[in-house]
Amino acid sequence: MNSSSDLGVRLELIDSCPQSRCTNLLQVCLMATIGFATVIGSSVCSWSQAPTWLVQHTASQFCIHSTVPLAQFERYLPSLCSLPTELSLTLQVSVAQEMIQVVVLENRESLDAYAHKILPGAPNRGALYIRHRGPGLVLTYFHDGWISDVRHECTHALLDVSGLTLPLWQDEGLAEYFETIGENPVGHTSHFHATRSQVRYGQVVDLQKLERMDSSSGLNAKEYRDAWSVITFLLHSSDETRSTYQKYLQDHQNKRGAGFLSHRLAPKIPSWRDAFSDFYRR
Ligand SMILES: [Zn+2]
Repeated sequence: MNSSSDLGVRLELIDSCPQSRCTNLLQVCLMATIGFATVIGSSVCSWSQAPTWLVQHTASQFCIHSTVPLAQFERYLPSLCSLPTELSLTLQVSVAQEMIQVVVLENRESLDAYAHKILPGAPNRGALYIRHRGPGLVLTYFHDGWISDVRHECTHALLDVSGLTLPLWQDEGLAEYFETIGENPVGHTSHFHATRSQVRYGQVVDLQKLERMDSSSGLNAKEYRDAWSVITFLLHSSDETRSTYQKYLQDHQNKRGAGFLSHRLAPKIPSWRDAFSDFYRR
């Protein structure tokens, strides 16, 4: 539950991983003074800010406020509602039951205008997750790739409310991973083939370089792809890599000093280059 008016609230915008997945993204942390007198019971749909919502609909733990008719996106809702369970089962972490507020606007211009209204100076993005002191807020607009965008941002939101404050590259890698729907989670439409192509040319993602990366200015397109490729490798290369990563995430969630992922993997993977290459050559 949050106060109805927030002054000097720390907001954190964690990208929008662009609709084209190829725009440089920023992580923007800023102190903002906002008159955001709208927010929000944590367990009910109680959003009350212009524009006039055509739809206020609760689906699982997502409270959806939309200017787009429900009929346009209702078919996608099962793929959104399943996301908390997917995270919990795949990562073997506890996912908080907290409500996530999801805004669906009719076009990109409306999204930009709305984002600026609630947060002057907000970057223009295809979708946004705004971390507030209260419930997470995901801003989207409806388009053909909406379900990917909303799953991506809601992954950020769910990790955040669940106390999984991860290095940015992992946060983005997981969001990229879970934005994909379908039976083949390895098959991210753009990242998979690009990663295979890189591997064919001997280019293997350097995990330690990712870990050392200064991500204060966000990730570029290649770093998004690299982050996805490492997360996907960890979750699908072998039972051992998956369980190692799950344990790492559990330690993060339980504030047990997770350390460097590469240090945990080193005894189990004699050659990162070989293992990574072999996985993407399959
Ligand atoms: Zn993201």
